Amino acid sequence: MPTVSIVRCDDYDVEKVYHAIHKSLSLINGIDKLVRPGMKVLLKLNLLSSSQPPESAINTHPSVARALVNIFQRDFGCEVYIGDSSGSVKNASTFNAFKLTRINEIAEDTKAKIVNFDKDEYIDVHNKDFEVLEKFRIAKTLRTVDFIVSVPKLKTHGLTQYTGAIKNMMGTIPGNGKKNVHLIAPKPTVFAKALVDIFQMSPPHLIVMDAIVGMEGNGPNAGQPKKVGLILASRDSVAMDAVACSIIGFEPMAVPTIRFAHQRGLGIGELNTIDVVGETIADVSVPDFKKPSSGAQDFAGKYLPDFLLAMMFDNTCSTFSTVNHSNCTRCYECVRNCPAGAMSKESGKVIVDKKKCIGCFCCDEVCDFHAIEMKRSLLGRTLLGMAKALGVEKVD
Ligand code: SF4
Ligand code: SF4
Repeated sequence: MPTVSIVRCDDYDVEKVYHAIHKSLSLINGIDKLVRPGMKVLLKLNLLSSSQPPESAINTHPSVARALVNIFQRDFGCEVYIGDSSGSVKNASTFNAFKLTRINEIAEDTKAKIVNFDKDEYIDVHNKDFEVLEKFRIAKTLRTVDFIVSVPKLKTHGLTQYTGAIKNMMGTIPGNGKKNVHLIAPKPTVFAKALVDIFQMSPPHLIVMDAIVGMEGNGPNAGQPKKVGLILASRDSVAMDAVACSIIGFEPMAVPTIRFAHQRGLGIGELNTIDVVGETIADVSVPDFKKPSSGAQDFAGKYLPDFLLAMMFDNTCSTFSTVNHSNCTRCYECVRNCPAGAMSKESGKVIVDKKKCIGCFCCDEVCDFHAIEMKRSLLGRTLLGMAKALGVEKVD
């Protein structure tokens, strides 16, 4: 039975975060037996944005990164690497994400090594158990370290409902490779299966979640920061995501990544077979945590079988992008990042070709000005309206 620890942590004071993570690790037991002095430990952070500060709750907070560096260097005597590839394909975006989140200062202070996955050597991996992605490219450091610690942020996600431990491993794919995943897996259900393929090739040995301030509403980039006040730790990514979802009022098995990973035997997504230690879910739950406005899928996921869900949400209830021109600064980051070539400039304005749009949310993820609005088809909006009217879902 997997264990997930829940520890309260009020704010990002580094000492408080250090003690909370320390406690969360001691509660799950056995980490000291797995980690040896001299081991190479990779902290795989969750650095989506290269332009928004830590307070925006988009990226793993630097205090969490610093506390983990201290734990693995000072307490375990390990060699620490900090790595990620940010959400944008823009040149230097991952470099900027490290700078903006002050991770580069942490590296300078502690002599931890930063690994920009976009600049790392890469290797092609073949997944014989794949459902969507048979072959893809990952940063080589994933294979040269001894121990991988995934450090996701607790956030919603318009396309996958929730982003956490399983989805955090998408950042193991350098730069443009992430665009290809969206092209190969353009529909939400298929995309969730592709995320599980990626996770399956590099499952972390340990997950420490930054749930001190999460993101509710239209995450992972355009939602609002929401205090949750927790650090979570586990060795099972699926169990970690199931517990995190329960805390914020999401039905774990209705979240596609959790359900598919559980079905593939990559972890445990059913709460009744997870050992929750430290605080109880009931004591720390945040029932008013808002779901993304595309959250009808989660609502329907409680009642419909997978094949019907896929038919509805991959087709008739699909999502497409629109631009709110009064917020748009014309930075064109979205145009550069659209995997489907659905965005273009017309007399300076960003135009979306609805026929080409695959609803991947990449434009939403890279827009720092809340100028992208993801819209559902009429049927999708009707379902969501029903969910709201019935009071079964709290959506943004
Ligand atoms: S929609 Fe956002 S990302 Fe696209 S050009 Fe406008 S401000 Fe930039
Ligand atoms: S317009 Fe936005 S949502 Fe549509 S395909 Fe392009 S990046 Fe994806």
